[in-house]
Amino acid sequence: MSQMMQNYIDEAEKVLLHTYNRYRVVFEKGDGVYLYDTDGKKYLDFVAGIAVFALGYNNKEYNDALKEQIDKIIHTSNYYYNLPAIEAAKKLKKISGMDRVFFTNSGAEAIEGAIKTARKYGYLKDKRTDHEIIAMNHSFHGRTMGALSVTGNPHYRDAFEPMIGNIKFAELNDFDSVMRQVTDKTCAIIFETVQGEGGIYPATEEFMRKVRELCDERDILMILDEIQCGMGRTGEMFAWQHYGVKPDVMTTAKALGCGVPVGAFMMTEKVGAHSLVAGDHGTTYGGNPLACAAICKVIDLFDAMNVLDNVKKVGSYLEECLDALAGEFPCIETRRGVGLMQGLVMDRPVGDVINKAMDKGLVLINAGPNIIRFVPSLIITRENVDNMIAILRESIQEVCS
Ligand SMILES: *Cc1c(COP(=O)(O)O)cnc(C)c1O
Repeated sequence: MSQMMQNYIDEAEKVLLHTYNRYRVVFEKGDGVYLYDTDGKKYLDFVAGIAVFALGYNNKEYNDALKEQIDKIIHTSNYYYNLPAIEAAKKLKKISGMDRVFFTNSGAEAIEGAIKTARKYGYLKDKRTDHEIIAMNHSFHGRTMGALSVTGNPHYRDAFEPMIGNIKFAELNDFDSVMRQVTDKTCAIIFETVQGEGGIYPATEEFMRKVRELCDERDILMILDEIQCGMGRTGEMFAWQHYGVKPDVMTTAKALGCGVPVGAFMMTEKVGAHSLVAGDHGTTYGGNPLACAAICKVIDLFDAMNVLDNVKKVGSYLEECLDALAGEFPCIETRRGVGLMQGLVMDRPVGDVINKAMDKGLVLINAGPNIIRFVPSLIITRENVDNMIAILRESIQEVCS
């Protein structure tokens, strides 16, 4: 590392609150699936800003659309209508089959909105104010107090107790564990269709179906968090679309704006008509013209670039290659995931492997201590996968031998 980059890092550590143990690199620009640091070193990127830059860095059409919107108007209050928000909501409805959209600034804020929607839905039914929400162990829904309250990882929560009340935890893919938590006060069940931070665990068909049936029977809202697994990552626009069941409420963010901070929670007409009304919820920035122009262009480009086809094709190739790698090394326990959301489970902490890969010009990230996570941009090629595997193999060899 150059003295210059070292200086940047030293400066950063004097001014930024230390809430991340950052990798020792300063990225300056990106192009396609490559990142460049301030020394000009090139990296193949299999993180994409954690499942954000679905279309790769520096996509010209995307950049031009944003520049055009900047020259028109960047922001106006949600007390007024704006064209990009109308267009973005229409496009989101089309790709999700949901009916009503509320734009947020982040994933966590989309979760907050989904929680408020569920509580209000319950409240309007029976006027009780002690409704319960069932969430899953090992889940991750964000760092704000509401989102943290449904995040099934005590390590993130403990120092910040008390959480918001009446949250119960069950086990993903264990329907009996959900049944044990259901009461007449349950207003919602929330989970990620594919758990991300918790270790890349996809929900099973059976679990999805049974939760859906339970929710229908008892008028409980099924809330799916698609913030990481949605927007094409698994080969469908939203991961739940693989299963033939539909949530009542869903959240999206990360790749939704491909880098412009924006998220959304969405719901069916029925929930929309029996939950939040004027005065119940709001945001200053959420769904501003710049953010919504990004969403519009992203959704158009998914179509124009046949992104879903690429995810299906290259995703299954990535699976094959990771499975083969797992066969080569006893220190790799297994591979799990769907499409371009994959995890390689090792028998030890993966930090050393990730650092070695970084030295060799490959950006990877973990999901929990023992899992290497692969959430690249959705435009990667088989050749990119081959190059990634070659560097990863070397890195694992050095750590595991
Ligand atoms: C990243 C993430 C969030 C939180 O999103 P932020 O934009 O970081 O607030 C919530 N849920 C899931 C599944 C995520 O991956």
